[in-house]
Amino acid sequence: MKKSYLTDAINLKNYPLNDDDLIVMMFSKTKGLISAVAKGAKKPKSKLGARIQMFIANTILLFEGRNLDIISQAQSLNTFSKIRYDMNKLTYSMYISEIISSLCSKEYNKDENSEIIYNLIFNSYNKIANSQNLEEIIITTLKFQLKIMDILGWGLDFTTCTVCQKELNSDIYYCQNYSGFLCEQCSRKNNQNIKINSKIKDFLQEMLKTGIQEKSKYDKLVNSAFLEKCFLFMKKYIENISHKKTKVFDVLDCTKIS
Ligand SMILES: [Zn+2]
Repeated sequence: MKKSYLTDAINLKNYPLNDDDLIVMMFSKTKGLISAVAKGAKKPKSKLGARIQMFIANTILLFEGRNLDIISQAQSLNTFSKIRYDMNKLTYSMYISEIISSLCSKEYNKDENSEIIYNLIFNSYNKIANSQNLEEIIITTLKFQLKIMDILGWGLDFTTCTVCQKELNSDIYYCQNYSGFLCEQCSRKNNQNIKINSKIKDFLQEMLKTGIQEKSKYDKLVNSAFLEKCFLFMKKYIENISHKKTKVFDVLDCTKIS
């Protein structure tokens, strides 16, 4: 008898295996990033078909297979349906999916982090789905970027200079070679730095501390131009860390954000 297991999982993407079946990449609460086969999901009458669309969270029953596990049943927990009717919501949600699928591979994914990451994705999609404007969507994506990097052990340190360990204040400089912040003095010895003004620094620090569902004192003060600047910096940082140009970065290159 094949071993089975039950877990909650969020669909990140799917692709065809053959004429009838699809492979679904999901982030699960108990096993982190997993791929499994949805048999017959391409047939029009498939019950599974609707449940394996991108961004949907399901409780799924899986059977362990020789290569890939097989989805036996799926019951939706949240379809985040409002994401699908809004281009901005769709784009930023896809960006989140791409970050997870490229950064949460087995080598980085410690089991104890699975539930924390699952909840982060779930809450981010939920918040994006219910956002009223672009600013809200970008704030959520920014929080996601900061928090996922922190969970995976690549969190930004806004308080100490990466080189001299001195306390950072006012304007700081991001150095790609060190993948961290430098003080003004150290930044003069490195020429490939991005200046991060104190407003961006303070805002990002606050976003790292603020929960996805929580409001912050900045929410009403920031405009979309400022948010896009912050977002682009975080995008660059993640790109720098992952050391590979993946689709993560292409998703948003097609929009005005790039
Ligand atoms: Zn320094």
